[in-house]
Amino acid sequence: MLAPEIPFNRSSLVGRELEYIFQTMTVGQIAGDRTYSKKCHTLLERTLGVQKALVTTSCTHALEICALLLNIQADDEVIAPAFAFVSTANAFALRGARIVFADIRPDTLNLDEKSLEARITSRTKAVVLVHYAGVGCEMDSIGAIGRLHGIKIIEDNAHGLFGKYRGQWLGTFGELAVQSFHETKNITCGEGGALLINDPAYNERAEIIREKGTNRSKFFRGQVDKYTWVDVGSSYLMSDVLAAFLFAQLEVWPSIQARRRLIWERYANELSDWSRTNDVRLPIVPDHCEQAYHMFYLLLPSLTARHALIAHLAAQGILAVFHYLPLHLSKFGLRYGGKPGDLPVTEDISDRLLRLPFFCALTDADQERVIEAVREFKP
Ligand SMILES: *Cc1c(COP(=O)(O)O)cnc(C)c1O
Repeated sequence: MLAPEIPFNRSSLVGRELEYIFQTMTVGQIAGDRTYSKKCHTLLERTLGVQKALVTTSCTHALEICALLLNIQADDEVIAPAFAFVSTANAFALRGARIVFADIRPDTLNLDEKSLEARITSRTKAVVLVHYAGVGCEMDSIGAIGRLHGIKIIEDNAHGLFGKYRGQWLGTFGELAVQSFHETKNITCGEGGALLINDPAYNERAEIIREKGTNRSKFFRGQVDKYTWVDVGSSYLMSDVLAAFLFAQLEVWPSIQARRRLIWERYANELSDWSRTNDVRLPIVPDHCEQAYHMFYLLLPSLTARHALIAHLAAQGILAVFHYLPLHLSKFGLRYGGKPGDLPVTEDISDRLLRLPFFCALTDADQERVIEAVREFKP
C-alpha cells in the first residue's frame, strides 16, 4: 500500500479560530472593520510598532491600494524584481505603470540593490521589493537610494511577517508595506492581506481608498456627520468572519513561528551533508537577517535535476513545487521589452529552485519521509 500523500502545504487550526468565528455570528457583526478586524490592526501595530495597519481582502489588493496612494499613472515607472509574484508587478501595471524589472542577488534571491540606480529615471516613482522566503532585502542601501532619488519603497512582505533586518521588523522600512494571509502563508485566513503604513501622510487617504472612495471611516469615528464619495477607491475590507480566524492565528504567532523554525532547521541540518556531496545549495540567511521561516528551498544543479527530483518525490507521494517564473519573460511581462538573458540570475534560479513541503502541521514522521526521499536522490 502506498503511504498517504504529503502535500506541499496544508492549513490547520492553530488556536481559537472557530470560537472567534462563532462569536462574530453571536454578536451579528460580520462586515469589515468590526471587532476582530480592529483586534488584528492593534496586534499588528503593537507587535511591529507600525503606526497604522489595515486588514484587506488580499495582499494583491493591499498592493493596489499602494499604487493608488502613490498616484501611479500611465508612463510612471516602477522597479520590481523579475523573480516575484505576479501581483507584485501587476498592481502597478493595473494603473498603467511601466514595470522595470531588476535582477536578484544569487545568495538571498532578493532584489539586487546594486542594480537599482542604473534603472532609475526621471519617471521612476517607486521600488517594490519582495523579502524572498522571509529573508530581508538589503534595506540599508535600498532605503538610502530611495531617499537620494525621492523614490518610494514598497515592501511586499508576503513572506516576511515577523522577520527582521538588522533587528528591525520587515514591513517597517518602506513608506508602505503589504502582508498576505493567503492559505500558503505562515499566518492565514484563507484569503486576506494587510496594508502597513509607515508614513502617516498616507493614513487618511488609505482609509478612504479602502472604503470605496468614501470617508466612511471618519463617519464611524464621529469626525464627520455624514459620509460621502470623496476620492477613488474600491471595496478592500476583510470580512470580520475572516478577521476572527486571522486574529486567532495572529495572537499565537510566536508558536507558529517556533514550529516553522524547528521544521526549517531540521531540513537544513539533515540535508546539509547530502547537499554538499550533490552540488545542491540550501538557503542562505545572512547573519544580520532574522528570517521569517516562510519556506525551505533547494537549488538543484540544473533544470533536469529539478525535474528528476520532483518526479522522484512524487513517486513517493511527496509534493514538492517550483516557484516564480521570470516575470520579464512572461506573456504579459514581455511587453516591457525583456529578452532571455537580460536578468541571468532570475532566469537561472527560476529553473533550479524547488520548495519542499513546509507547514505547521507537517508531522515529524512525514518530515522524516521527505528527508529520506530527498537523500536517496542523486542529481
Ligand atoms: C502570496 C503573495 C502575494 C499575493 O498574496 P494574496 O494575498 O494572495 O493576494 C503577493 N506577493 C508575494 C510575494 C506573495 O508571496
